[in-house]
Amino acid sequence: MKIVPLKDWFDEFEDGPLMIVGPCSAESEEQILRTAEAVVEYCTPGVLRAGIWKPRTRPGTFSGVGSRGLGWMKKAKEKTGMRIAVEVASPRHLEACLNAGIDIIWLGARTVSNPFSVQEISEALKGVDIPVLVKNPLNPDIDLWMGAIERVSNAGISKIAAVHRGFSPFEQTRYRNMPKWEIPIELRRRIKDIPVICDPSHISGDSRMVPELAQKAMDLNMDGLMVEVHYKPKEALSDSNQQLSPAEYCRMMNELEIRCSKPEDVGFINNLEELRNQVDSVDHQIIELLARRLEIVDLIGQYKARNNVAVLQMDRWLEILNTRLEQAGLAGLDDSFTERYLKLMHQESIRRQTIIMQDGSEKKGKSADDSPDD
Ligand code: PEP
Ligand code: MN
Repeated sequence: MKIVPLKDWFDEFEDGPLMIVGPCSAESEEQILRTAEAVVEYCTPGVLRAGIWKPRTRPGTFSGVGSRGLGWMKKAKEKTGMRIAVEVASPRHLEACLNAGIDIIWLGARTVSNPFSVQEISEALKGVDIPVLVKNPLNPDIDLWMGAIERVSNAGISKIAAVHRGFSPFEQTRYRNMPKWEIPIELRRRIKDIPVICDPSHISGDSRMVPELAQKAMDLNMDGLMVEVHYKPKEALSDSNQQLSPAEYCRMMNELEIRCSKPEDVGFINNLEELRNQVDSVDHQIIELLARRLEIVDLIGQYKARNNVAVLQMDRWLEILNTRLEQAGLAGLDDSFTERYLKLMHQESIRRQTIIMQDGSEKKGKSADDSPDD
């Protein structure tokens, strides 16, 4: 895949992380101009972003100002010298952006989730020379993300970058979208030289968490950040919780530690580093899952204590052993390794449930020495 490095996209672009900043949605000319001017006046300017057509999850919410917002973006460009970036979700949007002189377009997570839409936009991109950013799809499907990048690349676009904005969880989590850092890292391993820009705003969904995620992205050697910045975040018509004020953005930029982007001995060191980052991320998730499993075990323990059910249910333990061993075998894990893990987990479950049972029995004034199971 032919990929032009970010620094060669425009004459004024330099080495170092590319910053793409601006409101979630364009709302008024004043909002666009005041946001852009504040950013340019006080810190690293970068590229100005804004959504003009907003793909909203639920109907009845603000769905963007439409093409008139393109004029405001152009005006901001004339006044500040910033390059301007807009989301497109159809060939019609692309055409309007090209006519308006938009510098960079991006495909949003919802669009990238649909190969038909990506294909249609790619067809319309043939013969056009414009940088294209491809956000990850809503679900953690690296092939779908790669597929979208390939479609855009096959249309002849070589100024292309991926944007990591996290993946929709069903459960309530600390993040609006799960970062699953191992996925963008794996993408970088699979598509050599693809620049990856992190969007900490959509990952966090919370402006307070944006700086720590931005730092994490820099620690992982990502190539830039897309950050939602609004001159009055609380009044924003979309994503108001996650937008930074220009002052907050500038503070974050002053505090951000930008790591040396490329070690001398590329190849080996880079690969090793990326695989280690994936291990870190997977370990992090395993620990969270272990904690979650033991929480459920505790709930079962409490339930048993309340109902005075306190026998080791051998059938259940054997069922756990057999089903997990079979699944692990199919996944290529060594049987004795799996068995040792399962026994360790079972022991720990018994230890915790025993404490819960004893506490319950003491309260009732009697003792219990049964071995509960999970
Ligand atoms: C956005 O950038 O405002 C947006 C809609 O993002 P995403 O496609 O990542 O949800
Ligand atoms: Mn947004």
